[in-house]
Amino acid sequence: MSGRPELPEALSHPVADNHCHLDIARGRDEPALPVDEALSLAASVGVTRVVQIGCDLEGARWAVQTAQAHDQVVAGVALHPNEAPLLAEQGRLDEALAEIERLARSSDRVRAIGETGLDYYRTGEEGRAAQHESFRAHVELAKALDKTLVIHDRDAHEDVVRLLDEVGAPDRWVMHCFSGDADFARACLDRGAHLSFAGTVTFKNAEPLREALRATPLDRILVETDAPYLTPMPHRGRPNASYLVPLTVRSMARTRGLGVSELCAAIAVNTDAAFGGPWGAHGV
Ligand SMILES: [Zn+2]
Ligand SMILES: [Zn+2]
Repeated sequence: MSGRPELPEALSHPVADNHCHLDIARGRDEPALPVDEALSLAASVGVTRVVQIGCDLEGARWAVQTAQAHDQVVAGVALHPNEAPLLAEQGRLDEALAEIERLARSSDRVRAIGETGLDYYRTGEEGRAAQHESFRAHVELAKALDKTLVIHDRDAHEDVVRLLDEVGAPDRWVMHCFSGDADFARACLDRGAHLSFAGTVTFKNAEPLREALRATPLDRILVETDAPYLTPMPHRGRPNASYLVPLTVRSMARTRGLGVSELCAAIAVNTDAAFGGPWGAHGV
């Protein structure tokens, strides 16, 4: 476990990691933690629930199985916006979308369709048509199945909102790893979003993001790791995991001028609202 940050001080009110990838290793030198260990480390510091996000067909199947095997986990299934153009190139996008629908219908443990959305950072112009098609299909699916839509938006704020307006936002949707400023936060909030803040909100140069956090009503705030990526300060660059949520949520509480437990209590309620009801020890 070389390079893994130590456990932070435990939270006194439980909170969920609202977006993570328990199945993704950052490289051969940094394998993913075994699921049981990842979940028990998280629970030991008060991170008692996890939303596991599958990003391709294999990841989506894994997410469903993991959510079925662990009470504290629910699943999101989708084709990541960086996957969609690759599948389209191979002529397999429709078939893959149909499989995502089948998986989403296969279990009540699937609470979310996501992560879908647009990524103009890692995908160039040539991949945008496929991303748009895939994003629209996922929005429709979330609405048809009454699941929560989880959106990935990297350098694509305007088009995400434009497409969402065209298709019509579902009742529940989450902007994961929110990366905009206060104005963009308001544009999302006006359309019913919960905004999920990741370790990026702890970074020194993230003042516009902290402004967005200040502009978000307390009942629309979520916290996530996006593990194994986006490790919060002071461990930026090392592997992320759900047990590091306390670092991010403490930083968020400071930004908001709130007690940590007060913020965690609000986030726990928001998680239930955002993902269609409680789960885990007190849910289903
Ligand atoms: Zn993402
Ligand atoms: Zn993610």
